[in-house]
Amino acid sequence: MSDIDMTGVDIIVVGAGNAATCAALSAVEHGAKVLMLETAPKESRGGNSAFTGGAFRFSYNGVDDLMQLCPSLADEDLDNIDFGTYTHEQYYDDVFRMTQYRSDADLVEVLVTSSFETAKWMTTHGVELIPSLGRQAFKVDGKFKFWGGLALRINGGGEQLVATLHEMAEKAGIRVVYEATAVDLLQDGDGGASGVRVRHGGKLHDLKAKAVVLACGGFESNQAMRARYLGPGWDLAKVRGTEFNNGEGLEMALRIGAMPYGHWSGCHAVAWDLNAPPYGDLAIGDQFQKHNVPFSIVVNANGERFRDEGEDFHSYCYARYGGEILQQPGMFAWQIFDQKVTHLLRSEYHIRRITKVEANTIEELAPKLDGVNAQNFIRTVKTFNAACRTDVPFDPNVHDGRCTEGLAINKSNWANPLDTPPFEAFAVTAGVTFTFGGIKVSTLAEVERHGKKKIPGLYAAGEMVGGLYFHNYASGTGLMAGATFGRVAGRQAAKFAKG
Ligand SMILES: Cc1cc2nc3c(=O)[nH]c(=O)nc-3n(C[C@H](O)[C@H](O)[C@H](O)COP(=O)(O)OP(=O)(O)OC[C@H]3O[C@@H](n4cnc5c(N)ncnc54)[C@H](O)[C@@H]3O)c2cc1C
Repeated sequence: MSDIDMTGVDIIVVGAGNAATCAALSAVEHGAKVLMLETAPKESRGGNSAFTGGAFRFSYNGVDDLMQLCPSLADEDLDNIDFGTYTHEQYYDDVFRMTQYRSDADLVEVLVTSSFETAKWMTTHGVELIPSLGRQAFKVDGKFKFWGGLALRINGGGEQLVATLHEMAEKAGIRVVYEATAVDLLQDGDGGASGVRVRHGGKLHDLKAKAVVLACGGFESNQAMRARYLGPGWDLAKVRGTEFNNGEGLEMALRIGAMPYGHWSGCHAVAWDLNAPPYGDLAIGDQFQKHNVPFSIVVNANGERFRDEGEDFHSYCYARYGGEILQQPGMFAWQIFDQKVTHLLRSEYHIRRITKVEANTIEELAPKLDGVNAQNFIRTVKTFNAACRTDVPFDPNVHDGRCTEGLAINKSNWANPLDTPPFEAFAVTAGVTFTFGGIKVSTLAEVERHGKKKIPGLYAAGEMVGGLYFHNYASGTGLMAGATFGRVAGRQAAKFAKG
């Protein structure tokens, strides 16, 4: 006999992050009684969602739309903020361009076309959205100009998001059992999901329910699975977020025949402080990241540049920085900035727990870059400086075309000679955010076997949904996808549970 009270429970939601809580709230709104299972203790609940900076990607047609989500925008100096638009078409373009046109078009359609409405739904559940000034728009000549669709972000980041959603869940009568790890799905005669086997209090319990929503993340926290699916070296990457996403949800779904889907050898990984702990630290959140590559030059142990730092705005390439660093000798790199751009650096460059050195000359800086060939580094900077098109004006809000010419690897935009001391350098390694491989779901979040056959009673949301991300990722999509498919999964599971 289990000590977990299942009285009246229709739906079990596995996980307690953004996707899971959105699913649970949505299921209750559609008349179901829900129990949530969270493997983490209460103080570590919320998975990767709790670590996020709160970037939230949705489409909008102008400032009037934004005001519906953030009425306090009226108090801003709107003459000096250009929010632009982020239409469905712009959103589609970003997703497909970045995933090399591999994203599942049906799932992306759900994501994009309901994104504004999903953002609105979140605000009705207490989530506060505020302008993302300084992160997605720089102030140039007194004016901000947004450049990538992330006009509003979640106030208080992931920590506040998880707190708010759980407060709403509690008000809605949703119970969460902590330190309860789902280890398997129960099945009924027709192969459908009829509950969850869970490890809790040192025992296994079989919990029966009419429907199950899996929203328990990817396998990013699991070293063995990273090595197995992402490839050699990935077991050595640091993990940016939770230590609790060990791929159990994916494995239990695959065991009952769910179809693996999406980019199983791919993941989101960023430049992350070299001396960050092995897993995320909620006290630091996402601040070990170092996203301002476009304003830097980045060198490896050989003192050589290895990517076009000015390829695009960071939002469109930061998810690849980590994988590229992992391929470098010693799996580390240094980002170097001079005083012409340090005022543009994000908050994460100003924290105390940081691997940073400074110097007044490049020659003085070179030996301070631990592990780097100093002579090569000095040569790299000289050659880089000489190659910069300084006749083209620098503008961080647009692809300014201020490039280098004649280098083996050119910088396409924002190329400034390193000539204004003091120089600041930051050591980084690969920080894995989440894995791309998932299971196949329909546009109604129903888990499918091969041939689009549904597994009755089984739904999935969040990082577990395969087919959205390949090779790369547009920032702010994870929370939106989790909320979108979480809502759908909760609604559909409630309908299913009611027969
Ligand atoms: C540092 C960092 C910053 C980020 N910043 C952003 C951002 O600004 N914007 C954005 O859109 N995305 C961001 N992301 C990505 C984002 O966090 C994810 O895309 C999103 O939160 C995934 O939500 P989820 O609910 O699917 O998974 P999670 O939030 O990871 O939730 C998974 C849940 O399942 C639980 N769980 C796992 N296994 C089990 C099990 N066997 N049994 C029971 N429970 C289990 C976990 O404990 C957790 O509660 C960031 C990620 C990180 C790590």
